[in-house]
Amino acid sequence: MNQTDQLIIRQAREHNLKGIDISIPKGRIVAFTGVSGSGKSSLVFNTIAAESQRQLQDLFPLYIRNRMAYQPKPDVDSIENLTTAIVVDQRPFHGDSRSTVGTMTELSPMLRMLFSRCASHSAGMSNCYSAHDPAGMCPHCNGAGKTVQFAMDKVLDTSKSLNEGAILLPGFQIGTYQWQMYANSGLFDNDKPLAAYTDKEWDDFLHAAGNIVEIKNTTGKVWDSSYNLTYEGLEKRIIRLYLKKSLSTMSKLNLQIIRDFTTQQPCPYCQGTGLNEKALQSTILGKTIWDIGEMEIAALIPLLLQFRQHDGQAIIQRIVAVLQDMDRVGLGYLHLNRQTVTLSGGEVQRLKIIRHLGSSLIGVTYIFDEPSTGLHAKDLERLRRLLTGLRDRGNSVFIVEHNSSIIEGADQVIELGPKAGKAGGQVIFQGTVQELCHSATPTGQWLHQTVMLKQHVRAVRDTITLHHCNANNLKDVSVTIPKNTLTVISGVSGSGKSSLAKYEIPKAVPEAVYISQSAMGLSSRSTPATYSGVWDMIRKAFAKENGVSPALFSFNSQGACPVCKGKGVIEVEMSFMDPVVRVCEACNGKKYNDEALSYTYHGKTIAQVLQMTVSEGMEFFKDTPIRRKLRPLAEVGLSYLTLGQTTATLSGGECQRLKLAARLHEKNQFYIMDEPSAGLHGQDVAVLLGLLNQLVDNGNTVLAVEHNFDIISQADWIIDMGPDGGTTGGHVVYQGRLQGLLQCPSSYTAAYLAKKCNKGKHGR
Ligand code: ADP
Ligand code: ADP
Ligand code: ZN
Ligand code: ZN
Repeated sequence: MNQTDQLIIRQAREHNLKGIDISIPKGRIVAFTGVSGSGKSSLVFNTIAAESQRQLQDLFPLYIRNRMAYQPKPDVDSIENLTTAIVVDQRPFHGDSRSTVGTMTELSPMLRMLFSRCASHSAGMSNCYSAHDPAGMCPHCNGAGKTVQFAMDKVLDTSKSLNEGAILLPGFQIGTYQWQMYANSGLFDNDKPLAAYTDKEWDDFLHAAGNIVEIKNTTGKVWDSSYNLTYEGLEKRIIRLYLKKSLSTMSKLNLQIIRDFTTQQPCPYCQGTGLNEKALQSTILGKTIWDIGEMEIAALIPLLLQFRQHDGQAIIQRIVAVLQDMDRVGLGYLHLNRQTVTLSGGEVQRLKIIRHLGSSLIGVTYIFDEPSTGLHAKDLERLRRLLTGLRDRGNSVFIVEHNSSIIEGADQVIELGPKAGKAGGQVIFQGTVQELCHSATPTGQWLHQTVMLKQHVRAVRDTITLHHCNANNLKDVSVTIPKNTLTVISGVSGSGKSSLAKYEIPKAVPEAVYISQSAMGLSSRSTPATYSGVWDMIRKAFAKENGVSPALFSFNSQGACPVCKGKGVIEVEMSFMDPVVRVCEACNGKKYNDEALSYTYHGKTIAQVLQMTVSEGMEFFKDTPIRRKLRPLAEVGLSYLTLGQTTATLSGGECQRLKLAARLHEKNQFYIMDEPSAGLHGQDVAVLLGLLNQLVDNGNTVLAVEHNFDIISQADWIIDMGPDGGTTGGHVVYQGRLQGLLQCPSSYTAAYLAKKCNKGKHGR
């Protein structure tokens, strides 16, 4: 192999990496694997991707570079032959509610172009088909598709009079100047309940305008004792104050008021489409552009293929090609009008891949973070084809992954380890999948095992049965969940698992606790130490040892570095850009002032303690109650986290396990989890499984949406959704014991499970 065909890394030392020297082939699919915390992300994201980003920024002129997010140089001697890296993660592009599957895939502009050229009753140029353009938007709702109205029954308590506080909206309490506008107007009997108002009084109260009202100063501040305001009916006034303003400039309180006191309805003029009449009169194949966006992609393809007009053929072909790609990766159940904020991470990631497939860039390094998340074995086959497609266009594809089917599709596998944190950080294997299967590394051993069905399933006693479940695509299904068991919901993506687990079950079992993968709180001060409750104990231990106040060891009070105020970093606000973050030079990122750092506990400063991993902390505090409090974190497989790491940097799976740690010793709960195995290596999945079983043995019910066969095979009860996604899903294909599932011919899960039981995880 030619030297430039390889990415050559020398002495990578980021985080726990132990001076890794490695050559990685370019133009290939390379899977990076290893137990959680072994250093995969540190190598792939924090070294390779970070250096690529940094070098790219060096190409820009200084004045632009200064405005880009600051990229520190990763701790590595050199990286040769690096190409542009594109990280394809699972985050939606932006939280904008206007972003849809159509805009994300860039199909919306193509469809508008098609309509402007070929539709019957053309509305004009392509912008005349956009609800976000004045030329195309419905004039009644400005393109929003919905109208927001104050719910006057929430704003007013009509059983009360003005003097009794009939106006419930904050800011209109008795005595306020806004209240006086009505009470001092002379228009009303202030002791008359609103329910007794005449029509004239109602009209004056809500809509009148013009009279001058004298307002008395009751604020106690020293200015005029009274002043005059022009009367404005209550409804008119609150519409002007709250609904005629841009949401982006509104205070939190006002946004809250809007949320609590208004209702939304589809705009009656455009039926919720946001488009004006002209745009809605124009059709292709009998459908408006909105109708097309509402169709399932799988059904849209054959429709568009019926289009025969000559001048639209080129554009139809481009649209259909993208739609077919989407269908091929198992997203045929989506529709183009679907808002991207409602998509799952796995769906977002596949949509991103499709965008890149359509791009003309070559020689790029694509980096994927666990693309198997959220995907059924059947979906994975399609994902593999996509990744191969990217490679065959001349790109390098790097994948951080634990899933055996994805690893199997790689040209080369690099395993980090042997263990997590300090006990990891080395390359312990590099070679083909076949070679890996014969190696003794953790991944090699794991790939070797066959899946075994659980033998001693728990007895079914009490059950919970749900009837008439219809959320999203569910087809009036009934499901039974045995209490005090481990139940798994399986099925291809879009089959209705989340609709069942996130909407229907919580409705039927209100006490159910949904342990999500979302971050815990937005505070940058939340850490494994605060979350587990050891933080107060650690500060007290330091205080007692040194005879000073515990507050001195808080980086958000007395102990804070005066320059960064205990943040460890300095944020520089940039107009139009994300703020630039730099490590604080005064404390070097330690967050503490010099006085706090002058005290030690058993030879370590408070900053050094925060740098310890959970397992190091357990060792360091071994004779104290702190150790016992940390144990649940180790039990859920998070012993490699550092005590002071902000939880904002944790992955979804890590957040979920951290929440799980706090609940390990509870009883009589009903837990719902979404893919608890996400982000876990096979060895760690075994630990997780032990925990789930422990929860059940403690008297809890655990229900997990899962694709991982190491977990599916250990379920006491399984609910398999499908058979496919979207309108062709939404049925219960099978519910009951695993043994019975294997006899179910229409279940994809059954077919893959049988294969894994017979041939092992590597499927050969
Ligand atoms: P993997 O991707 O294999 O799960 P990581 O590369 O994320 O592993 O982590 C390897 C080690 O580096 C772990 O001990 C982890 O706690 C540590 N680490 C990860 N991110 C940071 C960070 N931002 N600061 C300090 N240590 C970190
Ligand atoms: P799974 O969890 O099995 O992947 P979901 O329950 O998320 O499946 O989705 C089932 C069907 O419901 C899919 O067709 C999906 O597009 C649709 N769906 C899910 N959530 C929404 C939503 N918020 N709005 C509209 N459709 C949705
Ligand atoms: Zn409208
Ligand atoms: Zn500082």
